[in-house]
Amino acid sequence: MGDKSAKSGESQTEATQFGALQIAIDGPAGAGKSTVARRLAESLGYLYIDTGAMYRTATWLARKHNLSLSQADEIAQLAAGSDIVLKPADETSEGRIRVFVNGEEVTMAIRTREITEWASPVSALAPLRTVLVKKQQQLASSGAAVLDGRDIGTVVLPNAGLKIFLTASPDVRARRCLIDLERQGEKANFDELLKAINERDHRDSTRDVSPLTKADDAIEVSTDNLSIDQVVDKLMSLVKSRLQQSTSKSGSPA
Ligand code: C5P
Repeated sequence: MGDKSAKSGESQTEATQFGALQIAIDGPAGAGKSTVARRLAESLGYLYIDTGAMYRTATWLARKHNLSLSQADEIAQLAAGSDIVLKPADETSEGRIRVFVNGEEVTMAIRTREITEWASPVSALAPLRTVLVKKQQQLASSGAAVLDGRDIGTVVLPNAGLKIFLTASPDVRARRCLIDLERQGEKANFDELLKAINERDHRDSTRDVSPLTKADDAIEVSTDNLSIDQVVDKLMSLVKSRLQQSTSKSGSPA
């Protein structure tokens, strides 16, 4: 995989006025992780790494090459040999980060319902996780990075400076997914989405490899009754107090 996103991460690190902190944001689908993580990274001048987008891209590649779930090693090799690049959101991408694979833009192609459904079993394949976790750790090594996913605080960055576990009730999450899909022009039904969310939660949290679980030292934040701005504000104050703590411990910024 290419390292263009790592390079842009380095320049963002230099630009930040804040100290460097690795921030892990985990939680189930629809809890608001991506939007909140992206906004937080922008405010801090940190690199934002949407690890779900990486699993979605690997899924898109596997589908394109007609690979089945039984071909775990082939899927992992395909991902390892592909140049996956994450770029900041712009006016073309509806608030999503832009994603390219081997030069082809897949920003919206990885957000369809089909890829969403397939990404859950594909992301349970251990060889693929080995490849993508390594890549995520390399990208985050600058230290000033926000990563969102399912296993960031537990597996990818067990020593992250701040770990957040973002939750919301299944109803609220299904409603948000419905709005997202309708915005993309896809037809969707609330009850079906709720069922799919419950199934995906179950699969993600009971799989053998890196199940979705809250790290012991993560702070749980429910987004049910909060606006995005309120969640971002809340996380920003947690970041600032964490940075202050590490400054007073070491005598210099983290
Ligand atoms: O967060 P998002 O819905 O984009 O993630 C797509 C899929 O990738 C989900 O089904 C989730 O199970 C998987 N995933 C994962 N580990 C991560 C991030 C996402 O297994 N760190």
